Amino acid sequence: MEIREIKGVGPKTEALFHKLHIFTAEDLLSWYPLHYDEYLPPVPIGEACAGGKAAVEGRISRAVSVRRSGARTILTTDIDDPSGRLRLTWYNAPYIRSLLARGSVFIFRGNISLRNGAKVMEHPEIFTLHQYDEKIKTLLPVYGLTRGLGNNAVGKAVKEALSMNLLPAEYLPETFLDETGMLAEEEAFRAVHFPKNKEEALAAVRRLSFDEFFLFILALRTLRSQLLSAENAFPMKLSWDTERMMEGLPFSLTRAQEAAWREIEADLAGERLMSRLIQGDVGSGKTIIAFLAMAMTASNGFQSALMAPTEVLARQHYEKLVKLIADLKLEKLHPVLLTGGLTASRKREALRAIAEGTANAVIGTHALIEDKVSYKALALVVTDEQHRFGVSQRELLLKKGSPPHLMVMSATPIPRTLGIICYGDLDVSVIGELPKNRLPIKNCVVGPSFWGAALRFIAKEAEAGRQAYVICPMIEPAEGMEADNVLDTARRLKKELPSYSIGILHGRMKPAEKNKVMEDFAEGTIQILVSTTVVEVGVDVPNASVMMILGAERFGLAQLHQLRGRVGRGTEQSYCIFMSGQESETVKKRMEILKNSNNGLEIAEKDFELRGPGDLLGIRQSGDALFKIGDPARDRDVIVSAGKLAASLMERDPELAGAEHAPIKKRLDAYMEESSKTITL
Ligand code: ADP
Ligand code: MG
Repeated sequence: MEIREIKGVGPKTEALFHKLHIFTAEDLLSWYPLHYDEYLPPVPIGEACAGGKAAVEGRISRAVSVRRSGARTILTTDIDDPSGRLRLTWYNAPYIRSLLARGSVFIFRGNISLRNGAKVMEHPEIFTLHQYDEKIKTLLPVYGLTRGLGNNAVGKAVKEALSMNLLPAEYLPETFLDETGMLAEEEAFRAVHFPKNKEEALAAVRRLSFDEFFLFILALRTLRSQLLSAENAFPMKLSWDTERMMEGLPFSLTRAQEAAWREIEADLAGERLMSRLIQGDVGSGKTIIAFLAMAMTASNGFQSALMAPTEVLARQHYEKLVKLIADLKLEKLHPVLLTGGLTASRKREALRAIAEGTANAVIGTHALIEDKVSYKALALVVTDEQHRFGVSQRELLLKKGSPPHLMVMSATPIPRTLGIICYGDLDVSVIGELPKNRLPIKNCVVGPSFWGAALRFIAKEAEAGRQAYVICPMIEPAEGMEADNVLDTARRLKKELPSYSIGILHGRMKPAEKNKVMEDFAEGTIQILVSTTVVEVGVDVPNASVMMILGAERFGLAQLHQLRGRVGRGTEQSYCIFMSGQESETVKKRMEILKNSNNGLEIAEKDFELRGPGDLLGIRQSGDALFKIGDPARDRDVIVSAGKLAASLMERDPELAGAEHAPIKKRLDAYMEESSKTITL
């Protein structure tokens, strides 16, 4: 059902939802909260820290004063309790004045910041003691928003959607739900958006995560049985071109790269179809391994496709390969770029070359396995940092004819037990070392007051000919979300560093604009790039030596580690500045983990320990993560239970043909269909 059919959603709201890729009521129901705002018991005023949100109970100690500043009316007053006093301010809220008589006692809840050294609570909510008692322990969902669309509007639309009975009937056996005590699906959808308390929210997250894992595992197993029975239509021989390529590189492969390559080479020359995961931390040099496999495929007269999660990355890979071919005179490789952003005529040309087989190394985004792309002899598919590829696209490929060899490249560390369940059908090569010429990145964790010093540092690096990234959590300001955004930050930088060239990059720019900016940054004409996390994966500009991440507390640690991996790729010393807007203990501890480790697996494990199993939604991992709500680090036991149910099911009825399994079969088919349409930036 279209989103506009929901009561209360007019054309304006519809357009805003579309901006968030929410098109149907079902999409909306799966637009899970990013986290929950929790109403905690009030703390003594003296203990409320700046940089965080708190509730305090206080007595109004002076009459409210009103002042104008430009178009705004500012109201201020002070409150106290035996432990201290606090200033409160509101903007444009004249009605508050009559409410807050001197001497009366209320509970105030809001963000506390430092103004000229004094703590101020800005625009707090006001409750009577009784009102707050009712509120305590309730959770308020906080959604990922866009400008003009507030939490309340989303909540209202979700409530309407829930009342429309759109959800399909429960598909899990009742006995299983009883045994495990899991919520029914419908109940889980209600509770994830409107939990009565924390326990209920946890139960909802658990159920919805279970569904994600269960369907994923089931789909993988189904595909695996199809793959195992498929014949290898692309037998290959070893090729001299790959040896020439290795010799011609400006560096020699690390031992780990070499070992991974030999495994792939043996797979390709073997009798069975290859299914291999190449796992290597950021900067370990996975791209060149893909190029070697593509060269071997071309030498054998077949085609290969390399799929990247973003256009920016696809183009970068393409340009690297073109340069490598020119440098090393590899005549048999004919690359072509295929992305959604190509002009119609260039796309037509690319499609023809692919169909005729004149192009034999296709590089692009998910566009390259769409239905309208037909290959002459597609023998190898490589996916780079594209976890969603897992199930859906493989299925699409299978439908296209003889299944190709598959190579999945990822920097995401997957703890072993989970890896076996999630990637059970893949062989694994680990690239466990970085090239030797690298200096460890120097890290620092700072608060917003470091801004001036950070800019001086960036300017100094730019003077020395190097470049910097500045990453923001958001593109533009959004209602109810106080976070650094690309547009304002770029404006501020242009003002404060007027003699440097500053560019911006984010997912809502047109493909051509994005390409231009990335090219300019790669060439060094842009010195400072202000960006969202679109540069998170894969981007390789070795001359960049500073990574500054604003609002760092808003990102997952794995994501921060990926972002940091954009620097330290050359021989120069590189630096990463994690700037956090919050001073809470947990934020500090999380940032310390990053500061003390440059190892992705270690970071993921420590992060999990710190968050613990009671963590609700935590901080959402990057957008192309495999699961929407499930978090492999948090949900180990959920995964195990999903794996068990899937295994026992497949053992009894591998085709899910029995009448009692019809609901599961139906859901699985829909899942495979749906996940093949996944959108990438
Ligand atoms: P990732 O594993 O993160 O995808 P890349 O493949 O982008 O890493 O490689 C990162 C950088 O390291 C690139 O500039 C690449 O040319 C370089 N590189 C790759 N292998 C080596 C090596 N063995 N020695 C030195 N530099 C290398
Ligand atoms: Mg990469």
